[in-house]
Order: sequence, then structure tokens, then C-alpha cells
Amino acid sequence: MKKKLKKESVCVQGGWTPRKGEPRVLPIYQSTTFKYDNSEQMARLFDLEDTGYFYTRLQNPTNDAVASKIAELEGGVGAMLTSSGQAANFFAVFNICQAGDHFVTSNTIYGGTYNLFGVTMKKLGIECTFVDPEWDDERIEAAFRPNTKCFFGETISNPGGHVFDIERFAQMAHRHGVPLIIDNTFATPVNCRPFEWGADIVTHSTTKYMDGHATAVGGAIVDSGNFDWNAHADKFPGLCQPDESYHGLTYAKAFGKMAYITKATAQLMRDLGSIQSPQNAFLLNLGLETLHLRMRQHCANAQAVAEFLENNERVAWVNYCGLKSNRYYELGQKYLPQGSCGVIAFGLKGTKEEAIRFMDSLKMICIVTHVADARTCVLHPASHTHRQLSDEQLREAGVAPDLIRLSVGIEHADDIIEDIRQALDASK
Ligand SMILES: *Cc1c(COP(=O)(O)O)cnc(C)c1O
Repeated sequence: MKKKLKKESVCVQGGWTPRKGEPRVLPIYQSTTFKYDNSEQMARLFDLEDTGYFYTRLQNPTNDAVASKIAELEGGVGAMLTSSGQAANFFAVFNICQAGDHFVTSNTIYGGTYNLFGVTMKKLGIECTFVDPEWDDERIEAAFRPNTKCFFGETISNPGGHVFDIERFAQMAHRHGVPLIIDNTFATPVNCRPFEWGADIVTHSTTKYMDGHATAVGGAIVDSGNFDWNAHADKFPGLCQPDESYHGLTYAKAFGKMAYITKATAQLMRDLGSIQSPQNAFLLNLGLETLHLRMRQHCANAQAVAEFLENNERVAWVNYCGLKSNRYYELGQKYLPQGSCGVIAFGLKGTKEEAIRFMDSLKMICIVTHVADARTCVLHPASHTHRQLSDEQLREAGVAPDLIRLSVGIEHADDIIEDIRQALDASK
């Protein structure tokens, strides 16, 4: 049996093991299609009786190598790459929900996901209830209904930096016979592996730390293989009853622990076609090769910057779970003992104009609609990414109107702090 490698080694070596004479570096299989010797071979692929590549919309060897690295990093049984994080979260829920179904989600989630769940999926007849993870169990459990199919949350929320109590909510989801889906984008498997705390499905916007260089939009879904779909067969007909679009095949019967991720690939990706391009998967893989090193530096820098901000009189509040004074410090120590991420949320004293002047005065740090890459950047969600949300929705999503999201990069911490110091001075 293959010896299990440590996470750092999986980052570098996982997913691609070349045989004699094959390229050492993962090749980009820039081909839409794959060749077979006869019609029978091809037919067996279409019936899911053989595994193999036939068309890149369904599967591609470059993508599969990267997906399997991510699955190994998370400790899952299988993974699928998607064209974006949005596609990953949509597929993750839609794979087990259909019109007439319902799910429960934390309200402290990424603004794009908030819209997807609250507005767009509603148009498909799938309803969700937003709950505040800080409510007590009884109040949150009241949101579960007989047609509820999953519970969703983010390990560390974007942009607020709330830490989700994964173990508590995994137990709650399981009490109601549904899986817990965790968006693990900000923590990455280097800092937290939600499956170890009972989560069933993990999603990623690989656009962020995994790529890490702001070069390729992408997403991933990872299946732990742990949820027993058959034990709740009435809730999950898509997995436990025959799929007429695959000649009556039943995923949970045919694929066991791989049922969920196989259905996501064979059915959703086939029909909705949001595959990641192999070129982007190649870039993602380069990013993954240094993920463990970069996360360490992001966290060390963010800790120094958060401490600087906390001690600055112009700063009204800072949310970073690495600060001892932070209300998420304990949860951070439990789930993210080696560090959380590079993203800090904070607010300045004074007017909104002063906050905007502060951002405009930054020199090395740029204002960009991005987060979690090598370059330190800053954004004001209420006027940028979240501008479609009302003030009330902003508050519900854990985004204070004065919240500045600072994504600390991997430059030298002294330079980052110096830039912030001069911008604070200039914005007075
Ligand atoms: C950015 C982000 C998404 C959406 O990902 P895209 O790759 O931009 O589609 C989803 N969840 C979280 C936590 C994110 O930060």
C-alpha cells in the first residue's frame, strides 16, 4: 500500500505520478476529445461501465490530476474541478436539491453565494433559510424542514472573517439526516480539513489561495464519501433512485462512496457544462505546489498587520481570529491552530469618506476585486463586491457598512504595515 504523504508533500507531488518516459511535470491535455479503437469501447464509456476519457466537458486528464491532488489534501474520496467557485457551490447544492426542496445556510457567507442561494436558486424552485451561526441550537434547528436537503457554511467567512463551528453544525445536520457542505476557500486544507470535523462535502473557489497568483478563476468540489445516502434514501432520490438519463443506473448503488461526486460529474457537468479549462487547471496546480509555504507567510504577515491595526488609534475595530482579544479566537484555536488565512476585516473611526481616502492613499497595496493572492490588496465590500445588497442584508451577511477587507499578501510585513501607516496619516 502507498504510504500516506504529509500535506506539504501532497501539495508538491500529489495527483500526477508519471510512468517511464512520461513528462515529470503535469502536462496540459489541450484536447476536447479522446481516441478509442472501436465503437464498443466508446459505448461502454457512455454507459459508465468503463472509466476513461471521451470528451473534456465531462473529464480531462489534467483536471483529474489536479482534482485528485485536492481530494488527497482534503482527505476525500474524489473531487471535481469547476469553472469557478460559484459553479462549485451551485453544483454542490444542486446535486442533491431539486425544485420543491429546501436547504439551510449560514448567513455569514460570500456575497456571490448569498445571491446565488437567496435569489437565483429560488427561481429554480429551491428555497433556502439563512441562519446566524451565533444563534442557539434550538433557533437554528427550527429552520430545518422535512424537505431540507443540506446545511451550508464557510470555514472562515468572506469578507467578515467569522469562524464556523464545523463540528457543532455537522452534528446538527446529521441529526436532521442531511450532509454539511463547507466552503473551505479561505482556510484551505493546509490550515483546516473540514472532513476531520464531520463535514461531508467541501467546496473551493480555487481562484483564491489555491491558485494564489490571481491568474485563473476556478472551483472544486470534494466528496468525503462519508455521508450514507441510502440511510436517507427518501430524501435523496437523485442518488438513490435510477437516473433515466443513464439507462436507469442508481448512483448510490453503482458507485458507493463515490456516488455524490460521480453524479456531479456524470450528470451535472454533462448537462450544465461548467468545466475548468485544462490550461487553468495547470496554473492551479502550479499554485498548489507552493500552497503550504504561502499560507504560512500569509498567516504570519496577517497576524503582524492585525496586531498593528488593533493598536492603532484610528482603527475602530479589527476582526482576525488570530488576535487573542477576538471573539473567534477560541474557535480559531480549535479549527485553525496553525493559522487561519491572510484576510483581515476592520473598520476605521470617522466617516466613510475618510475610509475611502485611506484606501485611495495606499501605494503598494492596490484596490482590486480580489482576495487571497500573493499581492496585498484591499476592498470596501459595501461599495464594491456587495453593493447589490441592502444595508440590512449586509448586516445579515456579517458585513458592516464600514468594513474594509484587507487581504494580506506575502510581501515583507514591514512594507505592508508601512504602507498602511502612511495611508492612515494621509487620510486624516
Ligand atoms: C470568491 C469566492 C467564491 C466564488 O468564487 P469564484 O471563483 O469567484 O466564482 C465562493 N466562496 C468564497 C468563500 C469565495 O471567496
